[in-house]
Amino acid sequence: MQLDVLWQFMQVDMEADRFEGKMRQSENRQKLIKQRNFLMEQQANMKKLESDVAVMQDRLEAVSDEAERLEKVLANFCAEIEANQPKSAEGADARAESVRKVSDSLVRYEQELQKMRKDAETKDRQQKEIRVRAAKTKAEYDSLKKVYDEEYKADAQKLHEMRARTEAESKKVDPKMLERYRSIKQHCTPPMARLIDGQCSGCFMSLPSATLLELKAGERIVECDNCGRILYMEGGNA
Ligand SMILES: [Zn+2]
Repeated sequence: MQLDVLWQFMQVDMEADRFEGKMRQSENRQKLIKQRNFLMEQQANMKKLESDVAVMQDRLEAVSDEAERLEKVLANFCAEIEANQPKSAEGADARAESVRKVSDSLVRYEQELQKMRKDAETKDRQQKEIRVRAAKTKAEYDSLKKVYDEEYKADAQKLHEMRARTEAESKKVDPKMLERYRSIKQHCTPPMARLIDGQCSGCFMSLPSATLLELKAGERIVECDNCGRILYMEGGNA
């Protein structure tokens, strides 16, 4: 009889658990989580881009300064050549070599600057794209959040009522049985299983005859040897 009461209690308890599970699985909730994760990802991408750009900016300035310096060196060279013509062919060659070296470096720096400006443009574009995407998602998130908050409020109220009912039902159950039930529920749910054709319907193991006899005797709670659920025989248990 006590087991029948416990079985009845389990129906209410499981119903509340299932409802809570459904709340967690709510389509809107899942969507919101996805959107929130996406937004966080975009935020991280943005941070990464910003720090990349800052590093690039520093480098761009350094290269640009160096290019400027070389331009001056080159101009000085040219002025010097203008001012005093080399006395010998060797002198002329040496000067030409120096000029060539400086202007080669300058070309390399210019190329590098060009490449860096292009990279900067790309990163700038990426940032803009992220901003647009994130803003769109944020708007979707905000409007869905409003819908979900309403949904959640109603569901939470319903769950609260179900839990209250479970609590009321639990009062009818023998406290020792309830304690056993709760302890089994920690690792196995639902914590009770019907006995069908000598099998535990929780794990489908055939039970040894000793267990069956004990169950039929109905003197105490009998648990499945395999899964540990409380075995239940409708009208069979005392
Ligand atoms: Zn079992």
